[in-house]
Amino acid sequence: MLEIRDIHTSYGKIAALKGVSLDIADGGLTCLLGPNGAGKTTLIWTIAGILKARAGSMKLDGEEIAGLRAPQIVGKGIVTVPENRLVFPEMTVRDNLIAGSFSRRKDKGGVARDLEEVLERFPRLRERANQDAGTLSGGEQQMLAVGRALMARPKILLMDEPSTGLAPIIVEEIFQIIGQLRDEGKTIFLVEQNAHMALDYADHFYLLEQGHVTFGGVPGEVDHDELIQRAYLGAR
Ligand code: ATP
Repeated sequence: MLEIRDIHTSYGKIAALKGVSLDIADGGLTCLLGPNGAGKTTLIWTIAGILKARAGSMKLDGEEIAGLRAPQIVGKGIVTVPENRLVFPEMTVRDNLIAGSFSRRKDKGGVARDLEEVLERFPRLRERANQDAGTLSGGEQQMLAVGRALMARPKILLMDEPSTGLAPIIVEEIFQIIGQLRDEGKTIFLVEQNAHMALDYADHFYLLEQGHVTFGGVPGEVDHDELIQRAYLGAR
């Protein structure tokens, strides 16, 4: 369990997160919704140790991790699937995947087994294993970004808007993959603009507006239409 309490993150004088608190429960899919500019990506980057919180606490199974640097956060098992995939375009699919296991590079046997498992999970990546990642379609690059994160054997997967820029049918496919990972007991924190899909899959969700968590709950127990309007438009 990751407990985030009263996190403040700023860009210079601009406060992006103004006291964010939320829980990411073990073995579930926790979703963060919110309009553009709410601070969703900033929260992912703060958890990942790429941005430093000005104040607040983040406890992973009781251990304080706020203030750790990005590689140390990965070492704790918190791995990010970044927005817009950010695969290495001039490296092959296979090498992109292997790059995901960088923190365990000495464990050659384990890395080889995990690579096989990821290629098993994503047959399309197996077919394209020797192809440069930059030549993949958007959906395939998203699968590669997920596969690369899995290569790090994550305890918690942070996913930043995996549906961005993808056709609806591909979005469906990506969500099926996310649902499958959740069913396998993986802990996932998903930031999404696509509130309809996210609420279909989430066990728990939060709404972030202007750097504040303004709502938290269980899908199905709330009026989705109103929530979706707020998530998209920031309407009140
Ligand atoms: P989107 O859905 O559009 O990606 P978001 O909810 O992820 O939005 P963030 O990207 O976290 O929002 O941005 C939160 C706030 O911080 C915004 O007001 C944004 O303008 C500001 N911000 C983000 N990055 C920077 C930066 N590098 N420098 C200054 N301000 C920034």
